[in-house]
Amino acid sequence: MIGFEEALEKVLSYVKALEPEEKLLLESLGQVLAEDIYSAIDIPPLDNSAMDGYAVQAQDTTGAGPSSPKILEVIGEVAAGYLAKEKVVSGAAIRIMTGAPIPEGADAVVRFEDTDEDKRKTSGQTLTEIGILRQAKKQLNIRLAGEDVTSGNLVLKAGTVLRPQEIGVLASLGRRVVSVIRRPLVAILATGDELVDIAEPLPPGKIYNSNTYSLAAQVGRYGGIPKILGIARDNAQALVNKITQGQDTDLLITSAGVSVGEYDVVKDVLAQQGEITFWSVRMKPGKPLAFGMLQFGNARIPHLGLPGNPVSSMIAFEQFARPAILKLMGKKNFDKFTITAVSESHLENKDRRRVFARVKVSQRQGQYFARTTGAQGSGILTSMAQANGLMIIPEDTPEVNEGDSMQVQMLDWSYES
Ligand code: AMP
Ligand code: MG
Repeated sequence: MIGFEEALEKVLSYVKALEPEEKLLLESLGQVLAEDIYSAIDIPPLDNSAMDGYAVQAQDTTGAGPSSPKILEVIGEVAAGYLAKEKVVSGAAIRIMTGAPIPEGADAVVRFEDTDEDKRKTSGQTLTEIGILRQAKKQLNIRLAGEDVTSGNLVLKAGTVLRPQEIGVLASLGRRVVSVIRRPLVAILATGDELVDIAEPLPPGKIYNSNTYSLAAQVGRYGGIPKILGIARDNAQALVNKITQGQDTDLLITSAGVSVGEYDVVKDVLAQQGEITFWSVRMKPGKPLAFGMLQFGNARIPHLGLPGNPVSSMIAFEQFARPAILKLMGKKNFDKFTITAVSESHLENKDRRRVFARVKVSQRQGQYFARTTGAQGSGILTSMAQANGLMIIPEDTPEVNEGDSMQVQMLDWSYES
């Protein structure tokens, strides 16, 4: 039996970030930047107005107040996207919209609400003049050129995960295409004579192949591209044929056939195809696991053999395949988002493994609570469907009592940057 950390370290030591690819900006969401991004422009490009109002010379507003308006001549108007034709001189103002470049000569913007514009409009006066009702300091309501991004500066570092906000920053720089680490193609192969695809009727004695679908969905959720290889029957030739179809992928995941059963041929075939280690990992569920490199001619592909039980395969995926996929994608943080919650269930850990118990986490009065989702048998997939977290019972904790503070890995909250 090997320890959980040792198994994870071993898996991670066999994978490294894939090569970069050029992607259209919006298609790069969730991928990792493979280049440092410098700006060739200032953002904003020019000093501009933060408000709808009047561009003025601040000194002209000295002493202005609600009962002592300073009257200025309105010599023009400028909207966002245009440059004012006129220049603001003492005694003059230009009507200006949010985002419009500050006209030459102006050094402050007085917003509409601090002028008598409304009063003039309702009384039918033309806006050839405007009364300023407050004293403006220099720079009032002016956004400075380059205050967001300065030309020549490093804006985003290689290694940054592209979230919607980074996509926005890249668009503000005018980037149409970016270099990002490509997504891994992950082959998924189910094994077992008992399995039937969901497209087929279910004969007696058979079960639907659910692992392929839960695993493919997990691959997709964490950023990989699943390649479904279907079902291999429990014989060596079938398995070799199917595995060969996975040779153009970045990671091969198989389910079942790694325990000690008579028909567990995955072990034998894989042992011949490359250097594979079979582990009994000190965890529950998910104890039997195979890992190693498969050899196809000159190509070597990491292979992760997950247990067959539907819950075990999903949990082992979360713990080992997910970090591997994140690493292939160039990500650096493999920790699942974890919270501290008060246990509402009594749980035992007699054989001192690291237990991942399916729990439903709720929040009351600022505290998290975690309750197990019914029967914890590793074949009971609906208990996984009811769970939003996995309570971790450490190897050295034989028992969890109601009221104990426990760590819970959240299944549905991501923290993958
Ligand atoms: P094994 O590892 O082959 O001994 O399988 C363990 C258990 O998982 C058995 O009850 C299998 O029927 C079940 N199982 C294996 N593969 C799948 C699959 N792809 N979908 C659903 N159940 C499976
Ligand atoms: Mg089997």
